[in-house]
Amino acid sequence: MKDKDSVLIVDDTPVNIKVLVQALKSSYRMRVANGGKDALSIAASDDPPDIILLDVMMPEMDGYEVCRRLKQNPQTMSIPVIFVTAMSDSDNETFGLNLGAVDYISKPFSLPVVKARVRTHLQLKQRTDMLENMSMIDGLTGIANRRSFDQTLEQEWGRGRRNGSVLSLIMIDIDNFKAYNDNYGHGAGDECLRLVAKAIQSSLSRSGDFVGRYGGEEFVVLLPECENDGALAVAENIRCKVEELNILHEFSGTADHITISLGVKSMLCEGENGAELLHKADQALYCAKENGRNRLVAG
Ligand code: GH3
Ligand code: MG
Ligand code: MG
Repeated sequence: MKDKDSVLIVDDTPVNIKVLVQALKSSYRMRVANGGKDALSIAASDDPPDIILLDVMMPEMDGYEVCRRLKQNPQTMSIPVIFVTAMSDSDNETFGLNLGAVDYISKPFSLPVVKARVRTHLQLKQRTDMLENMSMIDGLTGIANRRSFDQTLEQEWGRGRRNGSVLSLIMIDIDNFKAYNDNYGHGAGDECLRLVAKAIQSSLSRSGDFVGRYGGEEFVVLLPECENDGALAVAENIRCKVEELNILHEFSGTADHITISLGVKSMLCEGENGAELLHKADQALYCAKENGRNRLVAG
């Protein structure tokens, strides 16, 4: 266990750094970067900070760009970012928060307020991490997480083997989602993930059907005792439900709205585990991408 949380301050003005370090150094391990490049390399190092206080106006790379890059990198995307800035109008604040920052503090700031907000966000982060570690629920979308899926797949495979039944699996991946994030912001990307998760869930009718977030912008559906024809019908229904959300995506290259690709595989539950079922569905998903996206392919 480490003893103190570490705070990274990113600012091009030495006096700002000095004031913040003075205020926080008794409670936290302080690190500083005087530009975006340094900040990104410290954040992606083996010893990343627990929270980042980020100035917006900096030469070369501004704070918004630093935040955007932090949120794009899976290694750094969950480090909370607080903007500390003189640009205090609500447009700038909204813009910063949409990039995925947790908070926005205007200059001139009051040191007690900065201290309190840093403490609050560190506590929130610790609680979220702890809950995620214990949980079967994905924190962002509220559906089952990867761990829950791994367990359910093994359970359903075992049950299918005992019953001699077919298990179907659908792998789903949002099309051109990187371009969505890059153009509409990480906050909008998160909201899109929630809506897609809901749409998938609402397409399932049987009580044993399972939906989980496999990772990033990938989802997985398990349909116990469901033959291939049934699974294809469910997959097409899911594809339509997501299209009907009609989430504008002008940078998709596939359509003018958010679409998904799906790989579908059904197997009689024979053999040790469901690894091959998963692998075959993933290969089918890859084919769906290759064949033009916004479609399903049966493995
Ligand atoms: P393809 O059609 O081939 O699937 O292209 P893609 O752009 O969807 O795929 P790629 O794997 O290149 O990019 C996935 C992007 O998903 C990268 C990242 O920006 C975004 N992403 C992953 N997890 C999250 C998340 O939790 N929140 C947000 N907002 N974006 C995420
Ligand atoms: Mg994708
Ligand atoms: Mg993907």
